[in-house]
Amino acid sequence: MSVIRQQDFIDSIEDALQFISYYHPLDFVNALADAYEREQSDAAKNAIAQMLVNSRMSAEGHRPLCQDTGIVTCFVKIGMDVKWDKTDLTVQQMVDEGTRRAYSNKDNPLRASIVADPAGARVNTKDNTPSVVHIDMIAGNKVEVMIAAKGGGSENKTKMAMLNPSDSVADWVVDTLSKLGAGWCPPGMLGIGIGGTAEKSAVLAKESLMDPVNIQELINRGAENKEEELRLEIYERVNKLGIGAQGLGGLTTIVDVKINSLPTHAASKPVTLIPNCAATRHVHFELDGSGPAELAPPKLSDWPDISLAVGDNARQVNLDTLTPADITEWKMGETVLLSGKLLTGRDAAHKRIKEMLDKGETLPVDFKNKFIYYVGPVDPVGDEVVGPAGPTTATRMDKFTDQMLEQTGILGMIGKAERGADTVASIAKHKAVYLMAVGGAAYLVSKAIKKSKVVAFEDLGMEAIYEFEVEDMPVTVAVDSLGNNAHDAGPAIWAVKIAELDADKK
Ligand code: SF4
Repeated sequence: MSVIRQQDFIDSIEDALQFISYYHPLDFVNALADAYEREQSDAAKNAIAQMLVNSRMSAEGHRPLCQDTGIVTCFVKIGMDVKWDKTDLTVQQMVDEGTRRAYSNKDNPLRASIVADPAGARVNTKDNTPSVVHIDMIAGNKVEVMIAAKGGGSENKTKMAMLNPSDSVADWVVDTLSKLGAGWCPPGMLGIGIGGTAEKSAVLAKESLMDPVNIQELINRGAENKEEELRLEIYERVNKLGIGAQGLGGLTTIVDVKINSLPTHAASKPVTLIPNCAATRHVHFELDGSGPAELAPPKLSDWPDISLAVGDNARQVNLDTLTPADITEWKMGETVLLSGKLLTGRDAAHKRIKEMLDKGETLPVDFKNKFIYYVGPVDPVGDEVVGPAGPTTATRMDKFTDQMLEQTGILGMIGKAERGADTVASIAKHKAVYLMAVGGAAYLVSKAIKKSKVVAFEDLGMEAIYEFEVEDMPVTVAVDSLGNNAHDAGPAIWAVKIAELDADKK
């Protein structure tokens, strides 16, 4: 029997959440570094480079990898021989207390992203609680914890199916991935849960994402069972889709596939797919009664030495003097360095803007000839102008975009991932553009922001409208004013190139 102190458990949760906010797991860093070395698509290689440089900067600065600091997801396995020194808090309450403290840390405040009343008012709980806690009783006298901070963009891409027993899981995964878009910030991992019941398959998938990246070991030694064969098949077939980093087309879409399975009903084959994004964040620890967990920080020398080069052809742009005519010269796939003022706005701000426009009210800011950046930044600390401020998924703003382009005079938008077909058509109709920043490079992006102030909707917190003054902020033209769309063209080109490369090997 071991006695676990409540305080040790809460302290360990707090430390673990701070730790994973700025340290990628090293197995993930190594997998990204390998992908960087292998990558032949310039756009994808540049995106992976930004992720790796961002990762190292976060590790060095102890600031979040991504502005979305995630929903806390915690697997707690409690030994049957464990006793707690206090029983006034449940395990859920202890995890929540650690979460509360971690997210309000003064040196590294993390963005509170959790809203209560999800089907109604969606009010931010302000401290990122409650966390999602899965509790299991296991043999032994230890408490094992696996804790993650899961980004919303990748969580939103979760898919679930009740397949027929004879259906192929690999076919379903590959078909699903091909329609998933890039809102999950690839390259990342796929977690797949098979069997049990519908809800159990989702938990299995989520738990599988806590495993380390090790597909290269499996490739080297070969599959020893059906599940390993399935991992290899999915890994190869998904990467042949050519989706690539950020959906721009390239060799690496996923760095690993994890599978957890359980026996299921003879009539059923439940399957859940959960992607993990560029901000893969998790850590594991055990408590045995001897004190709080001690997490070993990685060494900065563990990161690859990569420098960012935007290339001589990058277009330098002054946002303060841009005209509608200027942006018609920008071409799909081109790198643009933005300097000057831009406005921000994401889900809640767009909803309010729409309501005001529908009522004929005057907006509190003038969007004419401005760009709107889809972002909800982390609060700054010290001498920071703004905390990590990477792009959020643009697809969610699709339903507002036509009205924004029609009625506000914006020149274009900056976000991450693809736009829907109607939105691309609207962009072309209005001779606007959609620019893409790299999701998962939030700390790096924030360094291009030289001034920041809230200019409207202050009550929306991180969803308020800010005015940013940026200097050489790198973006890619994802949809140009003719409606050419890099998220369609890039993967299509690279799927063909990958097939050709494979044919050459044979
Ligand atoms: S990397 Fe992308 S999907 Fe992941 S948390 Fe950040 S913005 Fe969200």
